[in-house]
Amino acid sequence: MSWNPEIMSAVPECAWPGLVGGEPAARLASLFQLEQSQWLAPEVLRERQLRQAGLLLAHAEETIPFYRSRFASAGLDAHAPLTPEAWDSLPILRRDEVQKAGRKLLSRSIPKPHGKVAWTQTSGSTGQPVKVARTELVGHYWCVFTLRNHQWHERDFSGKLASIRAMKGGAPPPDGVAAASWGRATHGLFHTGKSFVLEVGASLTEQVDWLQKIDPAYLLTYPSNIRALADRCLERGIELPGLRQVQSVGEIVTPAMRNASREAWGAPLIDTYSSEEFGYIALQCPSSEGMHIQAENLLVELLDENGRPCAPGETGRLVITGLHNYAMPLIRYEIGDHAVAGERCACGRGLPVLSKILGRTRNMLVKESGEMVWPRFGVRRFREIAPIRQYQAIQKSFTEMHVRLVADRPLTPDQEARLIRHIRESLESPFEIALEYLDEIPRSKGGKYDVFVSEVS
Ligand SMILES: [Zn+2]
Repeated sequence: MSWNPEIMSAVPECAWPGLVGGEPAARLASLFQLEQSQWLAPEVLRERQLRQAGLLLAHAEETIPFYRSRFASAGLDAHAPLTPEAWDSLPILRRDEVQKAGRKLLSRSIPKPHGKVAWTQTSGSTGQPVKVARTELVGHYWCVFTLRNHQWHERDFSGKLASIRAMKGGAPPPDGVAAASWGRATHGLFHTGKSFVLEVGASLTEQVDWLQKIDPAYLLTYPSNIRALADRCLERGIELPGLRQVQSVGEIVTPAMRNASREAWGAPLIDTYSSEEFGYIALQCPSSEGMHIQAENLLVELLDENGRPCAPGETGRLVITGLHNYAMPLIRYEIGDHAVAGERCACGRGLPVLSKILGRTRNMLVKESGEMVWPRFGVRRFREIAPIRQYQAIQKSFTEMHVRLVADRPLTPDQEARLIRHIRESLESPFEIALEYLDEIPRSKGGKYDVFVSEVS
């Protein structure tokens, strides 16, 4: 790997090799360990995870009555060395249980070195938000995995970083805000270029103008927005000559989005899978499109309908344990997302792989039999049929589907008929399909948008 950015030395007389102290040094030391641990065999990684999980369980048992009674009913001795069998016997923690338990999940005694506690909450785009407390130490790991992501994709810190996303705490000025650096993860460790942020609510024209003015090296935004921006740039012959990589967050990436990014800007799309509860869960492999689970920070399980681990190629639900949150441990938490298990990665890293992240239960089509499936709309052909820019489908009942379209112009009756026929064939189901035309598909509070939502439960 040729990535070798210059360290920001705390001692001016020693520019090279740079000297770092305090908190930035701790970040660098953790990153150094991750460089080694990524190559460990899966069995060794699992052993180390269980050792760390054992410490977390003992802490939870001692300081959180909620877990004490849960462990007791599962017959778990939280102070005995943790075995894989004991781990499997622990109950799954559901989202609604976390919402109901609230502060009962808080530790009564958080170890001092873990630092101060702060609260965060999920965007609530899938219903009620989940509130999670985390320590400064959790923030440390968030920074370290941010650095790993930069390292894997060999990012040049001297470049400008532009983000277009939903902003917390009200809308920023419309022309975006600038910071002198890339932020917390690189602070005190690497010299970086500036970073810029724009609210995703800005119109496509505003976004493109803003990007042209900045001409960033890196762009971070939602996959649906990448597609819309890339299409706009292609249509109008707009170039972003400085753009090297596009990083996606928050939604499902499709091959069409990756193609659009390459075609418009010659820049690869690098995906990340993260959540408010845990931070980075999986990061895209530097040499493939597989998503490596960040096993040093999280114990991630992909379980089938019977609660057994999925074999490569199988689809399951994700159950996640944050290994370092001692303020409010989430132990075997069912986050609500589904994914496909991957094979061991050819890059040689031992970190497990998710070959595909599929979305939430509400993104699944519900059949009359009660069976739930991942819908296929045959989107690839949409643009052959009509000038459709974006779509969103909403299942209203077992027989009715509303399809919202953003199109350059309303479809002709013939195009509408062809589209409806194509969707029915793709879904292998004779849905009554109502088409609706919109100027824009509204995003959720968290700035995301789902291409399919089922209102049938
Ligand atoms: Zn890999």
